[in-house]
Amino acid sequence: MSDAVYIGLGSNLGDRERHLRDALAALSRIDAVAVLGCSSLYDSAPVGPAQPRYLNAVAKLECSLGPQRLLGILHEIEKDLGRERRERWAPRPIDLDILMWDEHVVAEASLQVPHLEMHKRRFVLEPLCELEPDLLHPLLGATVCELLARCPHQDVVRLDSDHWCGVWQELTE
Ligand code: ATP
Ligand code: CA
Ligand code: CA
Repeated sequence: MSDAVYIGLGSNLGDRERHLRDALAALSRIDAVAVLGCSSLYDSAPVGPAQPRYLNAVAKLECSLGPQRLLGILHEIEKDLGRERRERWAPRPIDLDILMWDEHVVAEASLQVPHLEMHKRRFVLEPLCELEPDLLHPLLGATVCELLARCPHQDVVRLDSDHWCGVWQELTE
């Protein structure tokens, strides 16, 4: 049984686009995971302490692993791409968050799905809405498109890149 899983990708250190691409490529190499699609790239102001701007995207996966197992794999990919675990919100080459797992809820000490902050973040809602506007947030009872409409303005710019489309489409073939 496979579920549709939505992953938030973010990078604000080094070659940001390459880090997003390498993370998607690493996911696509896992037997139990398929990359079904990816949003455009979004350039966004950081939240929290002053640091470089982020490049963000959201990917849709098909995954037959459990949520904790996928989280472990995301942490391994972050580490392989050079992420050192420091304080929360520190600059990083790659951050991979599980945003939604179909319309399921996970409430564990190390994993909360939907991601607890997603409805407050335009850099998550804009790409997620581009991919799946009617996806229902199971705890807030609103679609991601409705959550985006309620979310205050933040500095998030969608980049129009045919090049990026070609990059992720190659990984889904
Ligand atoms: P934020 O979670 O606010 O986006 P962050 O991504 O910078 O901040 P991290 O340092 O990457 O935070 O992760 C801290 C911990 O968050 C992880 O070790 C993980 O156990 C936990 N966590 C809880 N829910 C999730 C989730 N849905 N996706 C990824 N990590 C999660
Ligand atoms: Ca994050
Ligand atoms: Ca994270």
